Amino acid sequence: MGKKGFNTTNLHSDRRDNPEHGVLHKPVHPSVAYGYEDARHLAEVFQGKRAGYNYGRQLNPTVTALQNRITQMEQGIASVAFATGMAAISSALLALLKEGDHIISSAFLFGNTNSFFGTLKRLGIEVTFVDATKACFVESAIQENTKLVFVETIANPVTQVADLKAIGELCKLKSLIYCVDNTMTSPHLFLPKKVQASLIVNSLTKYIGGHGNALGGIITDTGLYDWSEFGNIYDAYRTEKSELQGITQIKKKGLRDMGASLGPEAAHHLATGSETLSLRIEKACENAQVLAEFCDNHPKIKKAYFPGLSNHPQHERAKQLFKGFGTIFSVDLKEEVNCFDFLNKMDCIVSSSNLGDNRTLAIPVAHTIYYEMGVERRASMGISDSMVRFSVGIEEVADLLTDFEQALA
Ligand SMILES: *Cc1c(COP(=O)(O)O)cnc(C)c1O
Repeated sequence: MGKKGFNTTNLHSDRRDNPEHGVLHKPVHPSVAYGYEDARHLAEVFQGKRAGYNYGRQLNPTVTALQNRITQMEQGIASVAFATGMAAISSALLALLKEGDHIISSAFLFGNTNSFFGTLKRLGIEVTFVDATKACFVESAIQENTKLVFVETIANPVTQVADLKAIGELCKLKSLIYCVDNTMTSPHLFLPKKVQASLIVNSLTKYIGGHGNALGGIITDTGLYDWSEFGNIYDAYRTEKSELQGITQIKKKGLRDMGASLGPEAAHHLATGSETLSLRIEKACENAQVLAEFCDNHPKIKKAYFPGLSNHPQHERAKQLFKGFGTIFSVDLKEEVNCFDFLNKMDCIVSSSNLGDNRTLAIPVAHTIYYEMGVERRASMGISDSMVRFSVGIEEVADLLTDFEQALA
């Protein structure tokens, strides 16, 4: 089809793969197993010498079609889908790392990723958390055994924007795997490949699915990292071309052995959702800008955090890197406003933990998603007890403004 736009490519993606009966959507294939007329072909599929399917935990045609869509969106070379975003992160890192390795992570991190990195520490993998808004902090944390740097694009809930470009240059220079969680921006707002990411994480549950009706996660390899330089590749996968060794190991050791596979029904929901990604996220970004500006100027709000505000410390960086400032913003309420009472007064804004939904959702973060982390770590992340995070949806902005006005009145 040649080089076409983001939407055109995605909308016509399933058609290019010789779909059954000329269908425009890749069908949902529930079959777990695949039968072969010639037993030799089955053996060849197992040995990777013939394209084909062997067992549903490892491969499914509906899931493959979704993987192809995301690979195209991210301009990568291959993707592996998982049951959730957390399954993608944990399976990939457990597949690639071993005891005695060291990773550097942004300190401003999705709560469950932070929790998983605690699990890595128990397994003997060292983790150093740094302020990733400046590449120099990443650089000074590098050790002899450092293997990987993990960052998010826009961090949750204080919306720090990592020094994505400079960290990419640093990782390139030091031959480190650069893993960028693109969930908050999605491939519509940002392509991590442009800052030399090696691996990209997307929680499909969020913007790509968008409708809050299916869980999923995916790892995409950009093809930029030379896996022949990486000591942890098993001999069995060294036979692959060097750029495919990492994703092959993630597929075999991460997906096959750990088994957090994406189901075909969820893949179908997520693929359908992905078709309107750019329309939804552009509208939600517009709404978020209006609401964040409203909150920034409101006398009952102490502070608003949103990369689209000119007072945001990384506003200029976000402007340069992203096609939009995202749809997440947070506020610190003044003492006289109780965060629970405030949320209970909302009419169309729902108290809920998800984000990237079509609906506008709000959550008091210290009491919920960052509760387990404890007071100290929360303070180090700049999370106050009065902080409320909003994930802005695609409702009419006037209705959302009315909600804020009356809840703060
Ligand atoms: C939600 C989220 C995840 C995890 O995704 P799930 O699909 O909920 O497991 C990972 N990273 C970020 C930035 C997220 O927002």
